[in-house]
Amino acid sequence: MPALSDDDRAKAIQILEQVRTQLNQIAGEDPDLRFQLRRYILKRLEFDERGTPTQRRKLKELKRKFQRGLCFQCATPLPVKGAELHRLLAIEGYTEANTQLLCRSCHEKAQQETSPPL
Ligand SMILES: [Zn+2]
Repeated sequence: MPALSDDDRAKAIQILEQVRTQLNQIAGEDPDLRFQLRRYILKRLEFDERGTPTQRRKLKELKRKFQRGLCFQCATPLPVKGAELHRLLAIEGYTEANTQLLCRSCHEKAQQETSPPL
């Protein structure tokens, strides 16, 4: 995945500044409200990319059944808790076709091999 161009990065900074300005206008002198507004927006943007925790949990259950409880890479039995979804292409998101359920060790290796530049 290519990094943002300078032009696109400038657009992203502009959006971020607009959001910050609006947050400050709405929160005023209320640090608790500013904190909650930031949290809310941060989580929704995360869900836009990663889906909700419920969606990912259901996908994990599906993949676990499909892979018969084994890590897709090393075929060792997956732990009851701690198995991790790996996206083959990060931009494609957490879909059935774009994910594998891996043990933590295999997921760490896979992430090192496919980490996109920021
Ligand atoms: Zn593994």
